[in-house]
Amino acid sequence: MDEGYVKYVAERRDGIVPHSAQLDELNQARTALFDLGLIGVYPDGVGYGNLSFRNSGNQFVITASATGALRTLQSEQFCLVESFAVENNCVQSMGSLPASSESMTHGAIYAAQPLVHWVMHVHSRVLFDDLLRRLAPSTSADIPYGTPAMARSVGALVATQQQLPFVFVMAGHDEGVVACGANMPSTLQALLASLQRTSET
Ligand SMILES: [Zn+2]
Repeated sequence: MDEGYVKYVAERRDGIVPHSAQLDELNQARTALFDLGLIGVYPDGVGYGNLSFRNSGNQFVITASATGALRTLQSEQFCLVESFAVENNCVQSMGSLPASSESMTHGAIYAAQPLVHWVMHVHSRVLFDDLLRRLAPSTSADIPYGTPAMARSVGALVATQQQLPFVFVMAGHDEGVVACGANMPSTLQALLASLQRTSET
């Protein structure tokens, strides 16, 4: 599984993301997804799944790298992405841990669609397969995870979505599914509804 390590150039300054109501919301959504196995750790120990919310402008708070095993996160396990540049493949963050390896993808989404305030990236075999079968919006299968090409592709796809929330598949990132929305409950609900549909024909 091509996951769990950072492919972009990371610049980090030490700090703690201040506590906020949105951090509580993020933990609430994350624990729900963790309990469903949509966020977690593969048998080889590599974590998967990451959540973020827009802070201001294109800055966003995202879960730190290598936190997949934890059901609830503490303040030290969040990072504020202060700036990023897709073309230079670099991400600048503030926090005590490295930002999620998928920070660039989240950033591309926020930059492409100003109405998106929440991004939830999960992994699920059944959800991934079902969404592809239903011809859900998808990035190309030949674009691998964690590359500037994926970030550009995700940005282009998100820019075409007229309605929030929406769910799309990263076909070149096995099991990778992303939900984007204006607020936490609607974004979480979009994922849960998609998961629910997998048991229907
Ligand atoms: Zn992933």
